[in-house]
Amino acid sequence: MSGRAATGKLRPVSDKRTNWAGNVTFGAERFHQPAALPELQRIVSGARRARPLGSGHSFNRLADTPGDQVSVAGLPPVIEVDTASASVTVSAGLRYGQVAAALNQAGRALPNLGSLPHISVGGACATGTHGSGDRNGNLATAVSAMEMVTADGDLVTATRDGDADRFRGMVLALGALGVVTRMTLDTVPAFDVRQYVYEDLPAEAVREHFDEIMASAYSVSLFTDWRAPGIRQAWLKRRADAEDGWTPGPRWMGGTLADGPRNPVPGMPAANSTGQLGVPGPWHERLPHFRPEFTPSSGDELQSEYLLPREHAIDGLDALGAIARLLTPVLQVGEIRTIAADDLWLSPSYQRDTVAFHFTWIDDEAAVAPVLDAIEERLTPLRARPHWGKVMRMHPAAVSALYQRAGDFEDLMRGYDPAGKFRNDLLDGFFPPQR
Ligand SMILES: Cc1cc2nc3c(=O)[nH]c(=O)nc-3n(C[C@H](O)[C@H](O)[C@H](O)COP(=O)(O)OP(=O)(O)OC[C@H]3O[C@@H](n4cnc5c(N)ncnc54)[C@H](O)[C@@H]3O)c2cc1C
Repeated sequence: MSGRAATGKLRPVSDKRTNWAGNVTFGAERFHQPAALPELQRIVSGARRARPLGSGHSFNRLADTPGDQVSVAGLPPVIEVDTASASVTVSAGLRYGQVAAALNQAGRALPNLGSLPHISVGGACATGTHGSGDRNGNLATAVSAMEMVTADGDLVTATRDGDADRFRGMVLALGALGVVTRMTLDTVPAFDVRQYVYEDLPAEAVREHFDEIMASAYSVSLFTDWRAPGIRQAWLKRRADAEDGWTPGPRWMGGTLADGPRNPVPGMPAANSTGQLGVPGPWHERLPHFRPEFTPSSGDELQSEYLLPREHAIDGLDALGAIARLLTPVLQVGEIRTIAADDLWLSPSYQRDTVAFHFTWIDDEAAVAPVLDAIEERLTPLRARPHWGKVMRMHPAAVSALYQRAGDFEDLMRGYDPAGKFRNDLLDGFFPPQR
């Protein structure tokens, strides 16, 4: 995204700013990156309409507002590691890559990471960003406490232990309750990971052994372009201390061990990807697919993702396989991951173990739209929930109807933001103001 100097002053945006992908030009009248908390509080309380903005990696208008867009990336960076409570408190504007490196130096790790280290902690948690792993929840499930500036400029804190149910509605809140300034995250002892890539797993092996494949490593990602049945690349991220006796043979599940490093996106350089070939490396240099110093993914792209109950994994594969000829002309790469169930009200994995079907599209919204319609027609009966931060076509009211606690979330919105300062068109669609 185009960077702007840190400023706490209200000033008009002279140039157009966009999200990372460039498919959304923000309509915000003003952009702020205050350098101190009181300045942030003043900006938020003085704004008529406002939205928090993270690192801008979402593909829709969730972070947009006609009023004041506010980034917390300019606040003093905080990374306080507390080994006794197995936690780290970080400023919400920091990116996972920054947090992870410091944490690893202190001998600690986050339980999981998304596919790229470039995203901000506040933005990723607000949308339920996830990595993969049967036993790994999305990134927001690691949050045990948070601090947030609410519509009237007050600083409120909430904790997982102290605020029980309400907290589960606050962590993954789409920026609808306030501007999060700090989050406390669970940590585990630092661990090493060995990454292996197997190529060309036949469709029958994937169908018959899906659960075994997804359970074969701490985090597993299956990449397909849907051009041929089967999986083009299976990325196994195995803990180096795993004691299950598994050894990487030249063949596995009908696939072949890659003989060199790979990039999951066809045509992109392998050097952009994290270390492979079983070379052990620290968790934060293996769990993401992409290295922090390079452009993640392809750069010229749109993304969508649908999260299904885990038991529908094969139904989902079949449903998408049946429309492969629609997908392939507009698809760069597809990825299949698993996520553990959680209790966060707006989590796409709310109370269900999950399989996620991700699509990295070409950068052409008009061409992708009818394909999304076809996907949604086939995955909706399988109770698919779209990723909050990616391109979707479903009617917004149909999206919130997929969440049992949507009504409770609307109550939280009314409580924290009675005048609707943090609302925008997309949020109004999901959670109509007059219900
Ligand atoms: C190349 C690429 C790879 C991706 N890989 C994955 C992946 O592996 N897994 C996955 O699940 N997703 C993935 N995503 C999607 C991405 O993780 C989400 O869109 C995420 O929200 C991006 O975080 P951000 O900081 O850029 O948030 P933004 O896009 O800036 O904002 C997203 C939302 O968070 C809110 N928000 C931001 N900061 C705050 C704050 N401080 N307080 C309150 N609310 C806030 C905004 O208001 C907005 O509603 C990927 C995206 C890209 C571009």
